[in-house]
Amino acid sequence: MKAPLPQPPMALLAELTHRCPLKCPYCSNPLDLERASAEMNTDDWKRLLDQAAAIGVLQVHFSGGEPLARRDLVDLVRHAAQLELYSNIITSGVMLTDKVMAALVEAGVDHVQLSFQDSETASAEIIGGYAGAQEKKMAAAARITAAGLPLTTNFVIHRLNADRVADMIALGERLASSRIEIAHTQYYGWGLLNRSALLPTREQLDHATKVVEAARIRLKGAVTIDYVVPDYYAARPKACMGGWGRRFINISPSGKALPCHAAETLPGVTFPSVRETSLADIWNHSEAFKMFRGTDWMPDLCRTCDRREIDWGGCRCQALALTGDAAATDPACELSPDHAVMARAVEDAGPQANWKARA
Ligand code: SF4
Ligand code: SF4
Repeated sequence: MKAPLPQPPMALLAELTHRCPLKCPYCSNPLDLERASAEMNTDDWKRLLDQAAAIGVLQVHFSGGEPLARRDLVDLVRHAAQLELYSNIITSGVMLTDKVMAALVEAGVDHVQLSFQDSETASAEIIGGYAGAQEKKMAAAARITAAGLPLTTNFVIHRLNADRVADMIALGERLASSRIEIAHTQYYGWGLLNRSALLPTREQLDHATKVVEAARIRLKGAVTIDYVVPDYYAARPKACMGGWGRRFINISPSGKALPCHAAETLPGVTFPSVRETSLADIWNHSEAFKMFRGTDWMPDLCRTCDRREIDWGGCRCQALALTGDAAATDPACELSPDHAVMARAVEDAGPQANWKARA
């Protein structure tokens, strides 16, 4: 008997480009950034959106890099709206002019997520490597809310800014965000390269958590606060992407289909291209998407654990980066024989004058 097909992905992350005017040291884009000349063209992306709608995808997140670096973003948003796909733009905001905002609204954009590098201007602009960015971001936030769109403000936190979480939440409130995301850095790509400079101390983490918990109570019913905790102090891993090939599909600028944006780090895995294979075939039948789907692939420790369908064994890319084996239990789990590598990374972390800025 044939195995049943998996449920379709709920959301598609369209990484339209790796180009970005900012240079955040925690960027989760790969170290080997895809060039502009390798990016899919407008027709390729539209064909992909057609296929996504046809298989039952509900949401499209236009991301990057900076999605506004693509001249066809308005066109793609309009196409998504015509297909009745919910569209979200994940942007740094520095390119969101009045004209672009008006065009996006006319095209039917549903939501914008705006990233901030810090609440404090000088620090934000050092972290993002872009002078004048904070003022542009404030103006972008005002344009988004004036257009009547829901705004999520996103703050990635780490050793250099984690002490200002209360100010970040206050800034998010002032900007009339409907959602504020406080996300500890996830250590992939440039973030992993700069991990020693970015890992917060235990005290910083505990303080940030306390501030978020208090704000959640204070703002209940008015503003939602999402909090993404760092794996390096965790006892159990997160359900990375809700499980491999279960809810999300990522498309790289050149059209590679990935179960998560960091999956390209896995050696020996060929990720299919949406230029050559249909999205349905990739999702339902490709070896790359079946590889860690479900529980059959798991080591005994996870396969016999009652959390196996809660965290799905954690993150495969983190398992590879920290243990050398993509099929190992995520070392963020305290049951993992490799859990000590997390504590060693924390011990090795400390203030650092320089990080390696992304290209
Ligand atoms: S994390 Fe920073 S550098 Fe990376 S895409 Fe976002 S804004 Fe650009
Ligand atoms: S052993 Fe595996 S399934 Fe169990 S909590 Fe740890 S990572 Fe999750």
